[in-house]
Amino acid sequence: MAESVPRTFLITGCNRGIGLELVKQLLAKPNPPEKVFATCRSPGTSQSQELINLAAKHPNLSVIKLETTDPVSVAEAMKEVEKQLKGHGLNVLINNAGILQESSLESVDEKDLLNVFTTNVVGPMLVTKAFLPLLKKAAQENPQGEMNWTRAAMINMSSVGSSIEKTSETFLWWPLLSYRCSKAALNMLTRCQALGYKKDGILCTAIHPGWVQTDLGGPKAPLTVDQSVSGMLQVFCNLTETQNGILVDWEGKTIPW
Ligand code: NDP
Repeated sequence: MAESVPRTFLITGCNRGIGLELVKQLLAKPNPPEKVFATCRSPGTSQSQELINLAAKHPNLSVIKLETTDPVSVAEAMKEVEKQLKGHGLNVLINNAGILQESSLESVDEKDLLNVFTTNVVGPMLVTKAFLPLLKKAAQENPQGEMNWTRAAMINMSSVGSSIEKTSETFLWWPLLSYRCSKAALNMLTRCQALGYKKDGILCTAIHPGWVQTDLGGPKAPLTVDQSVSGMLQVFCNLTETQNGILVDWEGKTIPW
């Protein structure tokens, strides 16, 4: 029997990497979602050509402009999605867009730290706040339902690099200082969202996609984007209240904060 797939999705940062693969694999399911809102900052340019080609083949795919750090862009995207949902809620929001700028204890500066925090923490915060009414609406469409992704869920793309417990001196040599700090802050945001939105029936989880061959992960990464995304989709469909407000990896293992 085919696994149950939520009716509607919104994913940020879909023109390449993990975001694009999430869109591809959702559309390829035997029982695909009724609507996937794939957002990116520059639809209509060569940077989003693959997404545009997909949209030409799949009427259930809507490509929406969304710069996650710009409140005006977020509000405009929300209005468009609300219009296209025609009174229905949004089941799943995936805050995938993120950046990595190399920095060490020596090289990090104010500009670097603020820039990475703006994309990796402020962006998911703005997007979640804006789309919250639609997530709540989806949860209310099934008021007696358990917390899971077919009802309403919000997933933040984090990283094992955020884990304070797992960060040792060896790892410190990797120049990921601002990235680690930003994803640790994203984890705290996830925990607070999970506690705050539990009463609304919205499941909130942070996930580490593995070290993946994308522009961000680089060519030496052990996982293909296909392996990472198929693993994560399996994890998402098995999420229950037990995983509310925690960090899991692409294989479903809990990562300590
Ligand atoms: P990529 O660099 O391949 O893609 C990043 C995506 O995010 C692009 O679509 C990019 O759009 C988009 N993006 C960046 N900033 C913004 C913004 N302000 N507004 C809208 N979109 C934006 O990265 P990955 O696919 O590898 O990473 C996806 C997520 O997974 C990130 O959050 C990352 O931190 C996380 N992750 C990745 C790992 C890996 O090994 N790859 C490991 C751990 C976590 P544009 O093309 O316009 O720049």
